[in-house]
Amino acid sequence: MGAGVPSGLQNQYKGLVASWVGSIPTYSRHFLSQQEGVQMDKKNELLRQIPKIDEVLKDQRLFMFFEDTSRSIIVESVREVIEDVRQRILNNRIDSLFYDDIIDSIVARINSKKQKSLRQVINCTGTIIHTNLGRAILSKEACKSAVEVASNYSTLEYNLKRGSRGSRHEHVDKLITKITGVEAAMVVNNNAAAVFLCLSALAKDKDVIVSRGELVEIGGSFRIPEIMELSGARLVEVGTTNKTNIEDYRRAIIEGQTGLLLKVHTSNFKIVGFTKETTLNELVDLGREASIPVIYDIGSGLMTDLSDWPIHEPTVIDSLKAGIDIILFSGDKLLGGPQAGIIAGKKKYVDMMKEHPLARVVRVDKMTLAALEATFYEYIDPEKAKRNIPVLSMISVSEEELKDRAYRLMEILNRKTDAYELKVVKTQAQIGGGSAPNQFLPSYGVSLKGTKLTIEQIERRLREHRIPVIVRIYNNQILLDMRTLLEDLFEDLVEALLTIANETGRNSYA
Ligand SMILES: *Cc1c(COP(=O)(O)O)cnc(C)c1O
Repeated sequence: MGAGVPSGLQNQYKGLVASWVGSIPTYSRHFLSQQEGVQMDKKNELLRQIPKIDEVLKDQRLFMFFEDTSRSIIVESVREVIEDVRQRILNNRIDSLFYDDIIDSIVARINSKKQKSLRQVINCTGTIIHTNLGRAILSKEACKSAVEVASNYSTLEYNLKRGSRGSRHEHVDKLITKITGVEAAMVVNNNAAAVFLCLSALAKDKDVIVSRGELVEIGGSFRIPEIMELSGARLVEVGTTNKTNIEDYRRAIIEGQTGLLLKVHTSNFKIVGFTKETTLNELVDLGREASIPVIYDIGSGLMTDLSDWPIHEPTVIDSLKAGIDIILFSGDKLLGGPQAGIIAGKKKYVDMMKEHPLARVVRVDKMTLAALEATFYEYIDPEKAKRNIPVLSMISVSEEELKDRAYRLMEILNRKTDAYELKVVKTQAQIGGGSAPNQFLPSYGVSLKGTKLTIEQIERRLREHRIPVIVRIYNNQILLDMRTLLEDLFEDLVEALLTIANETGRNSYA
């Protein structure tokens, strides 16, 4: 079954399952050497059977790839698989060779090389704003706007009324002011950039007063004290980890030296027990009294009232009503839009940020602006926003609906395969993305165990599927949470689970 085996002959090997041998057993010396002799003959025979690259390239099953795949990817895949096979033979890991399996492995290798690295997955984790899985997914309208602007010339910096140069800031900034009632707004690359720009433009070489309980780290390398240092502002910590009073802030103010009062929402953790946090109103009053701007890094950017659900996060509108001078928040957390940082508040301060040289460094591209404009547009009608923005619809979907979805999935699978033991279970979904820590949304899911495969094998195969499926393992079961499963991907999830259920135990050299 080496190179050029007539196709009739190949069929003869089909259905045969190659067996794999482990390392050579070490019995007696005599036995070993005899075994070694046999192994050497066998090895040489197998090595002779390895097909030649040129021959493999002529295989019909690779023809279709030449239409849309670069030749170098195909040749590289053939070379790699054949080299793998050779190594396996040399390491005694194969004791028979099947031409068809080699071709299948090459096809799999080509397909995997053609895969983009950044691609879609099915989120069955139950974490809505999953930081590792791309945080918020965009509304249909936001996607449409981004695609339209990306694939066409646009009004990015062109004013249609005047027929002359316009500003990229105008598009979204006006809409934000309209919806939130602020004087001015600005969009930057992300909320970390918003905090950095704000500190750089308003407090360089000045004191910024922050409560010790709010010196947070938001994932990896974003720490308030470090950002502060980079910006050239001086951090003045007040109060203690669990308690900060307004008097602590007042005592720390030095006329001519204090630049900002900064409040940071402790979005990804909760301090409970003997605690005191200064209210926004107290801070605003103090800021007015001392003529010092008050900045609030709210993090999540919740724009709607979610009090019907067990989610307790400050809203943008309530914070602005308290009289905050500048609010900063993310575009891709509870706002449900693209990655962005939104700066909103008093025009005097927003203008200082717009004019700062860093503004250019942290500016956003047209696709982000288009998606963000479309996202904010949904908020003109809050009910529409809850329906159309996936983050919000995933929060507000009824438990009944999730339960139905779970039963539907279980019943389809039960009808078509006996490879799984399935159960509909109650689960706890989460907002995630560093929002609403320790707050759970009651949800439904399907828990699953394999009758032939282990939990780990199923989990890995789901991850390796055409559209990878990301799941949680809980209590030695795979948990498929229905809250984060998009209806459009329901069939794909079923297909993934059935494909895995029907997999044969054929050899793979990929
Ligand atoms: C998430 C978060 C940030 C960082 O926002 P990015 O948009 O991820 O840069 C900053 N501050 C707070 C309070 C946050 O919750």
